[in-house]
Amino acid sequence: MVTRDDLKGTGSPDGLVTRILKAEPGLAYPIPIEDIARQLGIKEIAELETEAFEGGLLMDSDKTNGVILVNKAARMGRRRFTIGHELGHFCIPTHKPVRTDKFLCSRDDMRTWSAAEKDLYARMEMEANKFSALLLIPPPLLRPYLVKMGDPNLTQVIAIHDDFEVSKDAAARAFAQTHDGIVAVAVVNNGKVLRIYKHIKFPRIAPLPSNKVPTGSGYWSGAKNLTTPTELREVVAGQWLESEWGKKLPDLYEQVLFQQAGFALVMLWPEQVEEDDEDDPDENRTAKQRLAERVSRRYS
Ligand SMILES: [Zn+2]
Repeated sequence: MVTRDDLKGTGSPDGLVTRILKAEPGLAYPIPIEDIARQLGIKEIAELETEAFEGGLLMDSDKTNGVILVNKAARMGRRRFTIGHELGHFCIPTHKPVRTDKFLCSRDDMRTWSAAEKDLYARMEMEANKFSALLLIPPPLLRPYLVKMGDPNLTQVIAIHDDFEVSKDAAARAFAQTHDGIVAVAVVNNGKVLRIYKHIKFPRIAPLPSNKVPTGSGYWSGAKNLTTPTELREVVAGQWLESEWGKKLPDLYEQVLFQQAGFALVMLWPEQVEEDDEDDPDENRTAKQRLAERVSRRYS
């Protein structure tokens, strides 16, 4: 069982989660985040009464004991993410509350995935998020899980959400970053793209005027079925991807999963462009033939 001693000498989200996984080799999903927090010195997980914050952390001056506070209205996935986030502040030695003696973290803090070098506050929030995401959906567990599921499909985001007990948002981010297929997932609400999670090798997204979902997207035409994603279909790549002068855009496939309250997930999956265009075996086939092959591969 992991203890604070296992974490000595490391301070990055990656390093800390690696140590935890090493000390708990039998760890399986869903990760028992509350048990891990207790083993690492969290004495209590209590409700946060105010709605203004998503989570909080009280601790003694040397951070040996702590109490995590969670927004009592939060659903399970978000509650678990908040516990992981506050545990991150607790375990990362350099993290110190900025204004008071405790951490109080907002919804926006929980969505900070990048920060300027000098913005120490945002950097702490970003690191706490990374710690939580890595611990709740550890890449060494997620990679083999996704490999078994084959080609990228939004049903896999729902599976991660169910099996790892994380929010769909957290599941979408881990899916996009970890899948062998180079994909991106846009989180959409009422026609606007709120954020896009991408594989590190995903091409650049084109600027979207007013963040509006492109008019040619299946988001506007797909049947609004809340349980089953739309079929994979080819869309005009230039509406989502930024074109580079003199370079042909890859064929782009899209899948949409409608959600409650006007939310939707849109998966983008470009056909991988081979380095050597001269010898492209696909060259003489039409886009339609290639789509048929992709779809049959998926459903066979
Ligand atoms: Zn925080």
